[in-house]
Amino acid sequence: MTRLGSYAHDNQFCWETMKNNTSRRAVLQSLIGSAIVIGFDICNRSWVTSASAASRFESLPPLDGVLYTDNTKLAAASDDFGHIVHRQPIAVLEPGSISDIIRIIEFVRTYKIKIAARGQGHSTYGQSQVEAGVVINMSTLNKIHSIGADQAIVDAGVVWSQLLQQTLPHSLTPPVLTDYIELSIGGTLSVGGIGGATHRYGVQIDNVLEVQVLTGEGKLETCSKFQNRDLFEAVLGGLGQCGIIVQATIKLIAAATNTRVFLLFYDDLATFTRDQRLLISDQRFNYVEGQVVANDNGGWRYMLEAASFYNPPATPNNNVLLANLNYIRGTEQIEDKSYLDFLNRLADTVAFLKSIGVWSYPHPWLNLFVPGSAVESFVGEVVSTLTLADTGQGPILLYPVKTNRFHLPLFRVPTEEIVFLFAILRTAAPPEDAVVTRMMSDNRKLFEQNRDLGGYRYSVSTIPFSQDDWQQHFRPVWGKLVSAKRRYDPDNLLTPGQGIF
Ligand SMILES: Cc1cc2nc3c(=O)[nH]c(=O)nc-3n(C[C@H](O)[C@H](O)[C@H](O)COP(=O)(O)OP(=O)(O)OC[C@H]3O[C@@H](n4cnc5c(N)ncnc54)[C@H](O)[C@@H]3O)c2cc1C
Repeated sequence: MTRLGSYAHDNQFCWETMKNNTSRRAVLQSLIGSAIVIGFDICNRSWVTSASAASRFESLPPLDGVLYTDNTKLAAASDDFGHIVHRQPIAVLEPGSISDIIRIIEFVRTYKIKIAARGQGHSTYGQSQVEAGVVINMSTLNKIHSIGADQAIVDAGVVWSQLLQQTLPHSLTPPVLTDYIELSIGGTLSVGGIGGATHRYGVQIDNVLEVQVLTGEGKLETCSKFQNRDLFEAVLGGLGQCGIIVQATIKLIAAATNTRVFLLFYDDLATFTRDQRLLISDQRFNYVEGQVVANDNGGWRYMLEAASFYNPPATPNNNVLLANLNYIRGTEQIEDKSYLDFLNRLADTVAFLKSIGVWSYPHPWLNLFVPGSAVESFVGEVVSTLTLADTGQGPILLYPVKTNRFHLPLFRVPTEEIVFLFAILRTAAPPEDAVVTRMMSDNRKLFEQNRDLGGYRYSVSTIPFSQDDWQQHFRPVWGKLVSAKRRYDPDNLLTPGQGIF
């Protein structure tokens, strides 16, 4: 593991595709002086140019997009939002078509070179990186194919904000959105995708009707609840182990135009969680989340965040919405904004964090699913000793969801009716190795405490995790995952950055 490290770049080739006039397919070329990249050297496991060509090499197929091996592209693919793990690939494919990914999978498979898809690279622990392999930058496959009355067909490289821009003019929306909407559809479908509407509609993967997947053998398969169900269940929340999602059919529901947002404050954890449970059970709000926030005395208090979506001239009735809640009277904040502004509410914060450089600090994030029966004792204990130095002023999320809304087997949560997402979204500040190491060790400790209570990690976390840990994580469905892996990625080439196989 190299932290915030410099990169060792030994690959100096720069590949370009050059379109010719007669064919849509480009001829893959790379110039070093006048040398053209023409293949892959089996013995040296390196790319071959016309100048360096030895007697034995395999020719590369022509591509619609571009396969890069230059330092800038390799460095970008060796990093992610976590800035903790850096693994350098030997090439980055920016596909111009699904066929490009098939060609590259078929080509590199011969040499047992590993492959990973990369959406927006917002993982925190190298999940989309691949040492000495090929990273497929899905952001070039970003077409929205259709918006229907209740579904949209999209490429996996589309980001959720882009989809919203297209659906909202039709008064439609995906049922569940993550707090930050600049994530790729393929990236969140590979992990789950949780948000404030999850108590009503499950996670994003519960709102997918069909996916097109490329297997580790480069076969294009369509799967759904009704067709190739084993593959459907192996890729949604499947952490990229059994296939690369290239296209998805996403459910859409009616979108309101406006949102009334309520922030309600609590000093007491038990009262806070009691109110949250009430809200997700009677479903009076469209959106329910919550946070542990710093108070003025160097300690913590709790902020319930709830939102009601509406279409004027109708307006939400505050008295009805706030009835029987026990927040501290007089501290409530109520604000109206457009539905899109609400969904995009993190944009200003992200722009600010980028402007002061903190966005590029390491992010050892902890995301846990805590059993509802243990949440007050576990979270109460954690919060009693937590300091701002432990979080780097990153947010701490705490909100309940109903497990009967989850329908995909690889999305692992405790076996209770209500579980809480408890996420300490740490920023390593100052951005030093010692701080990262301490935070990751705290993550591991809290993961183990929660696991012993019947809890799970949410897979997007930054937690040192062994293959045994993964096996335990997936335990009741581990056998199913292993057989899907054998069937759909028999050479174990896909997504090694997760560390599962
Ligand atoms: C600021 C911020 C806010 C976030 N908020 C939320 C939130 O509210 N709710 C939530 O659930 N998560 C949230 N996340 C976590 C986020 O959902 C995951 O990190 C997600 O994987 C990021 O998507 P990405 O496009 O950046 O994927 P990447 O980081 O690029 O990839 C993630 C994993 O998916 C694999 N992958 C990517 N594309 C594909 C594909 N097409 N097919 C198969 N596998 C693929 C990669 O190989 C990798 O293993 C947040 C992250 C950040 C940084």
